[in-house]
Amino acid sequence: MSASIIDGKAYAAGLRGRISDAVSALPGQPTLAVVLVGEDPASKVYVKNKIKFTIETGMRSVEHKLPANVSEDEVVEVVRALNTDDEVDGILVQLPLPKHLNENRVIEEIHPDKDVDGLTETSAGRLSLGKDGLRPCTPTGSVMLAKDALGDLTGKNCVILGRSILVGKPAAMLFLEQNCTVTIAHSRTENLSDVIGGADILVAAVGRPQMVQAEWLKPGACVIDVGINRIPHPDKPGKTYLVGDVDYKPSLDTAGSITPVPGGVGPMTIACLLRNTVLAACMRRGWKAPDNLSF
Ligand code: NDP
Repeated sequence: MSASIIDGKAYAAGLRGRISDAVSALPGQPTLAVVLVGEDPASKVYVKNKIKFTIETGMRSVEHKLPANVSEDEVVEVVRALNTDDEVDGILVQLPLPKHLNENRVIEEIHPDKDVDGLTETSAGRLSLGKDGLRPCTPTGSVMLAKDALGDLTGKNCVILGRSILVGKPAAMLFLEQNCTVTIAHSRTENLSDVIGGADILVAAVGRPQMVQAEWLKPGACVIDVGINRIPHPDKPGKTYLVGDVDYKPSLDTAGSITPVPGGVGPMTIACLLRNTVLAACMRRGWKAPDNLSF
């Protein structure tokens, strides 16, 4: 068997195209505000890409750069000002924040209606209760790719490997919303390979390079690999490369479909952030939500 490759890069590009179309048909221009604290190189690259795609899809981008030694109260002040700025539809605080800042406190300051990362307690509560709200981006992208590969997910056994607040838990709620039978596995799970062997859909979000072995997979399973791990290159001394949480190459012979790393779930995260910005603008401003953004 040779698995079909789920091309997240292409799917994300298509989604950004649909977002552009949706934005051009709206009565106004949605605005995404990004707050970047400090000089972390990876965060700077993420923010640069977020701004680039925000503008490319026809939206307005506002950036707030704060020095690494900024006080927590000053960050909170910026977030509060963005909450009350009627022009701003979505607020994204780039994580991780420098160690002296309490991330939870800062995130909780974001108004839930502008919480385009879906990380506030209110957004998590709305997701758990099945109420309308903004859903976390990476888990949403994972569902989109699984649906793209399999169509209707009703009744599928879905194993989520990982129970983090950022990925595992919201992914479990989102696959449940798709009528999957969801199992959440974690570091204390017994007989992990057997649990994974029952999965029609495996969402691996564990942060351990190539941990999931090909022989653990149910033949034909849909594998959504969220993991992004940088490891030393075996042939190029001093160089590194990216791998997922699943041992990709051998899994091609077992899985029915699989996301590559890079080029799978990764590109979906920003595309879903842009989608959330449009949805947030529509909800807050009372515009009709575009019908080309559902999945
Ligand atoms: P966390 O470290 O917060 O969570 C990892 C989870 O994996 C925990 O629930 C942990 O269990 C579980 N785990 C750890 N070791 C094992 C093990 N040996 N067996 C079973 N379960 C285990 O990671 P995140 O959820 O934030 O991220 C997961 C991965 O996804 C990372 O590689 C990250 O880089 C990537 N990521 C990718 C994104 C993207 O855009 N594509 C966005 C966000 C993350 P326990 O709770 O018991 O400790």
